[in-house]
Amino acid sequence: MASIKATAPRPALTGHGMDRDDHTRADEERLAQMLARSDARLMALDGLLPVLQGDGLTFTPLNGGEAHGELVYMGLKDETPIFAPVPGEGDTRQAFEQRANRAIVMQLQARDLAIYAGARSLVDWHARHRYCANCGKPTVIAKGGWQRNCVKSDGGCGAPHFPRTDPVAIMLVEHDGDVLLGRGSNWPERSYSALAGFVEPGESIEEGAAREVLEEAGVELCDVSYVASQPWPFPSQLMIGCHGYATGREITLDKTELEDARWFTRAEVAEALQSDPEQGAFRAPPREAIAHTLLKWWLEQGA
Ligand SMILES: [Zn+2]
Repeated sequence: MASIKATAPRPALTGHGMDRDDHTRADEERLAQMLARSDARLMALDGLLPVLQGDGLTFTPLNGGEAHGELVYMGLKDETPIFAPVPGEGDTRQAFEQRANRAIVMQLQARDLAIYAGARSLVDWHARHRYCANCGKPTVIAKGGWQRNCVKSDGGCGAPHFPRTDPVAIMLVEHDGDVLLGRGSNWPERSYSALAGFVEPGESIEEGAAREVLEEAGVELCDVSYVASQPWPFPSQLMIGCHGYATGREITLDKTELEDARWFTRAEVAEALQSDPEQGAFRAPPREAIAHTLLKWWLEQGA
């Protein structure tokens, strides 16, 4: 934790403060002891969605875990071992439908939202990787849920599989004191946010950021630098927040990607972040999104 500057932006969904206890994952004996502990707790999930108690998660006694299917060991929360259940194979359709429902998730208070986000990304990965991508045979959970293995004794190829994290570059593009924001065609009315896109194979973060802005808005970037990052569990993105300067202001929209993109002043951004969402020049990204964190950070830089 010492490497994180006190002044660094802290996006939502980060900083859950749990001990990830990764040494226990690979040690079957220690993992069994954690499962057997009388104070071990199970995060209550309805498929992929959290079961809320007010604005917090619900934890129930694990009771050894035998009554449940696959379990992921999330680590220690204030010394308490926490496990999360992988949805059963029959729940695939429910899980598919639940992936679109984020409203209930965003009701969680900050720490529980971060704890849930890690568990959600992992259990969803398990639910979608029951078969080996290499040979098609069934896979089994391993390393406390931080790996799946194709089983050689079942006629499989033996390949290990690891939870994926997909990098997405999200960019605050600045020119002459203004910031470039865009909106997709299916977004809520007046919503604008930072441009974003997946980093592709063979590309650095900075190259991915510059390519996306050029493709989507026709704006050329220089001096791209890293600001902050955020795990986004829908299903497994790592949002990498960057800042860059545009070489010019002219926008050429790619209409298949964006409905609109515009330059906004600092005053417009400040008003949108503070005011009623119906007021101001645009509707700002929600506080859970790293785009919100980046815009706040940008305003502070210029203050
Ligand atoms: Zn295999």
